Amino acid sequence: MTRPRRLSWLTSAAVLSGVGYTIGAQAAAAWFGGAVKTAEGGDRVSLTFDDGPHPEHTPRFLDVLARHDVRATFFLVGRHAAACPDVARAIADAGHDVANHTESHVNLWTISPRRTREEILRAQASIARATGVRPAFFRPPWGKMNAAAFGVCADERLTPVLWSVRGEGFVWRPSAECMAAEVVRRSAPGAIICLHDRGGFPDTPARVLAALPAIIDGLRARRLSPVPLREALMKGVRLA
Ligand SMILES: [Zn+2]
Repeated sequence: MTRPRRLSWLTSAAVLSGVGYTIGAQAAAAWFGGAVKTAEGGDRVSLTFDDGPHPEHTPRFLDVLARHDVRATFFLVGRHAAACPDVARAIADAGHDVANHTESHVNLWTISPRRTREEILRAQASIARATGVRPAFFRPPWGKMNAAAFGVCADERLTPVLWSVRGEGFVWRPSAECMAAEVVRRSAPGAIICLHDRGGFPDTPARVLAALPAIIDGLRARRLSPVPLREALMKGVRLA
């Protein structure tokens, strides 16, 4: 084999393994059920909030949820939970699920298997330390799984969870009214609804908070009951 041909073979192999590690793993998650996108039918739906906790925004979300007697799921960033443990603890104490969203909100498509393991395990430890609860669910930032993350989740008995409905897109930035209407319209039984109490656009938490009462009322008007993921997916949350 000539040197250029060997180089191109090696390049192709590297590209293919890279594709398998990132887009291939994502496709496996989407097509073969490697990650949950909807719950069992019935009348259950799940509100999920990513990227927190935030010292000011998150308590406002907890107030609205308490006023409406709704339990939800918060995918926490480990270092944010470590920075405001009182808020993280308040989430768990209010009966919401606390779940793993990596330690530093990193794109799993850009990191090694070793770093992937560190990101997930450190977040497990940070969240357990702050809340007393060891998460049972994992959501990769931006929904991007890599192949290594499946193995870590299996070892940790973490269920990877994506979503079927989003409050806003990477570009789409709806008003609170529009967000509420679209979330309610798109939600079917078993829907897993992805919202943010931190992160996103600078005004995302404020718009989601403003939309939240109408989302809850609209879901209930359609006879859909918001429940935390442990109820929607019938999976227990283990104490640390
Ligand atoms: Zn996120």
